Amino acid sequence: MAKPFASSADLGEKRQTLEVLADGVYALTAEGDPNVGAIEGEDFLVCFEALATPVAAGEWLTRLRAHTGKPIRYLVLSHYHAVRVLGASAFGADVIVTHDKTRELIAERGEQDWASEYARMPRLFKEPESIPGLTWPTATFSDTFTIDLGGDRGDLVLAYCGRGHTEGDLVAWLPRHRIMFAGDLVESQAALYTGDAFHREWSAGTLDRVASFGAETLVGGRGAVARGKAGVEAAIAQTRDFLRVMMREVSTAGTLKEAFDNAHRALEPRYGGWPIFEHCLPFNVSRLWDELHGVERPRIWTAERDREVWNELQS
Ligand SMILES: [Zn+2]
Repeated sequence: MAKPFASSADLGEKRQTLEVLADGVYALTAEGDPNVGAIEGEDFLVCFEALATPVAAGEWLTRLRAHTGKPIRYLVLSHYHAVRVLGASAFGADVIVTHDKTRELIAERGEQDWASEYARMPRLFKEPESIPGLTWPTATFSDTFTIDLGGDRGDLVLAYCGRGHTEGDLVAWLPRHRIMFAGDLVESQAALYTGDAFHREWSAGTLDRVASFGAETLVGGRGAVARGKAGVEAAIAQTRDFLRVMMREVSTAGTLKEAFDNAHRALEPRYGGWPIFEHCLPFNVSRLWDELHGVERPRIWTAERDREVWNELQS
């Protein structure tokens, strides 16, 4: 029987959990759906990630408003993917911050990515007509961007760790609490999406830099909050292992289909039951195949190319 395309048949609502990680530090996890967060400054809020639509974001904000009524000064977006950014208008933030490359990627492929992700994961797009258009950052940076939270709350440091899940991922780091929001650079018991990735750099220097912060709590892009030094190290190690197994299997295969079958066979015992594993793998292997054959930047995913790759590999 043919597998339904990507996550198009995954229509069951996920349970969302709001966790208070420290005084004024919040994470909303959702059983493998995209995670979001918020950090209180003395008299303002920083929100991290925007979900796929303003309606979905509004539901998150309603829950957050039970804890704090501070105005949202910053909305930080870890990377350009539609399910992370298209809900931005709901926040009414004064400043929308991304990495420099994220702005370039939105200009280059934001429209195509929107169509692609909507078809892959329709459930995440609650009331898609509420999206007013692409989300544009109003402040960008190349290396670090520091937000003074005021009072004795310390800094929130946004940092670029190198190319990884995309060309322009950032992490958000709270040194005072040793808490990191890692976006999709780290997943915790959820499968990786690597269709726009730079596998070799991500699995080496980029994850080394993420690990070098020494976080004791880490909120990844999907999956549960990783707690304690050991928990954080395990989430980073799992991310690296997933990448390395794929690189080993794809680099030794003679054809794209063989690469997919070998990667699936090698990853399935450990990762097959984790959210979006089957959904992601054809796109992951297609991009990695390109990368290992000299295609420097990820090709743009369109709704049409998604179907072609899916039909070739997953059916
Ligand atoms: Zn992503």
